[in-house]
Amino acid sequence: MKILVLNAGSSSLKYQLFDMDNGDVLAKGNCERIAAGGSITHKRPDAENFYEELDLPDHGAALERVLSLLTSKEYGVIESIKEIDAVGHRVAHGGETIKESTRITESTIRYLEEIVPINPLHGPPAIAGMKACMKLMPEIPQVGVFDTSFYSEIEDFRYIYPIPYEYYEKDHIRRYGFHGTSHRYVSGELAKALGKPIEELKIITCHLGNGSSITAVDGGKAIDTSMGFTPQEGIAMGTRSGSIDPTVVTYLMKTHGYTAQEVEDIINKKSGLLGVSGLSNDCRNISEAAEAGNYRADLAMKIMINGIKKHIGAYTAEMNGLDALVFTAGIGENQASTRAAVCENMSYLGIEIDPEKNENFTRGVPFDITKEGASVATWIIPTNEEYMIAIDTQRLAKN
Ligand code: AMP
Repeated sequence: MKILVLNAGSSSLKYQLFDMDNGDVLAKGNCERIAAGGSITHKRPDAENFYEELDLPDHGAALERVLSLLTSKEYGVIESIKEIDAVGHRVAHGGETIKESTRITESTIRYLEEIVPINPLHGPPAIAGMKACMKLMPEIPQVGVFDTSFYSEIEDFRYIYPIPYEYYEKDHIRRYGFHGTSHRYVSGELAKALGKPIEELKIITCHLGNGSSITAVDGGKAIDTSMGFTPQEGIAMGTRSGSIDPTVVTYLMKTHGYTAQEVEDIINKKSGLLGVSGLSNDCRNISEAAEAGNYRADLAMKIMINGIKKHIGAYTAEMNGLDALVFTAGIGENQASTRAAVCENMSYLGIEIDPEKNENFTRGVPFDITKEGASVATWIIPTNEEYMIAIDTQRLAKN
């Protein structure tokens, strides 16, 4: 079975074509600068990358070019579009109604259109991708896999914000959680690696990338997560502030005369590691500068790490214990110094890592960095959201 996974961003369309018989990626690529010029990079494991600049007025045009490359004599991996058995879409937000991966129909699209007000950045491109598929591949089943759906069973007292209840009822303001597909994937892989049923495990998964979130997974179900109404809440990230006193926002508006959009740009695009260090949003640059003695870079790292530690402590309390801690995504998978700093002075919870294993880890595979005798297993698990989407798509397309 061949599954095409699509991830539509505001000006991009990423794709991967999976052969589900062996899990291989046959081809993948990215269309960029959609509606503002356009380019495509197309990669096959056995060939040179193909790159071209072309006019991509919308996501439909981008998908058309992707399909023509996938089926082309020179760069293709399939002879006809008909070889694609199903398409899986990564969708950031499923609102309150969509609680699991689902087949995409006209009515799903109508619902996603209704919730665009709470998903203004990611909703429209995802919908455009679905509509383009319906037009270009009307016979091929489509499945949506939603970042929020892993959190659909979180209890009300963990997702309702303590503001007047009417804003939940009328405006749907609540914690939704994001990165769910990644947290679901790595918690499942961790259970496999430990050889234990996930139903018996209390796990904290730390997805630390340019955007970061932390999730408590109890018995295979997410019970709490750091991101909230938007991916802005939680720990300090590359350019996002994470959680701050909400009055900071209104104070900035009042004292500087900023508009809502301006202040949103500050907390979304100019804060976090970038905002505190004044140097970069890239954790590699920040930790290098910190090691070289840059005070603000060091401060930015400490703020991020302290936020991670606080969530680990809080989630261990919420779950009444912890069996395993997982690091994933760009920083979690690669940056030994951040993992070491997070796990420092956590032995009271049972978290102790082996410095040797943490430094000399093998990239790209699940890797155990637990210190011998520690009661909590600490692992690096590479995330693979696209493969998780392909697995769900295969299951739902078969039904
Ligand atoms: P992501 O959003 O998952 O792609 O992660 C991006 C973040 O991961 C950036 O802050 C990078 O600095 C960090 N990162 C990626 N690769 C490495 C690496 N090899 N070593 C340290 N940090 C890395």
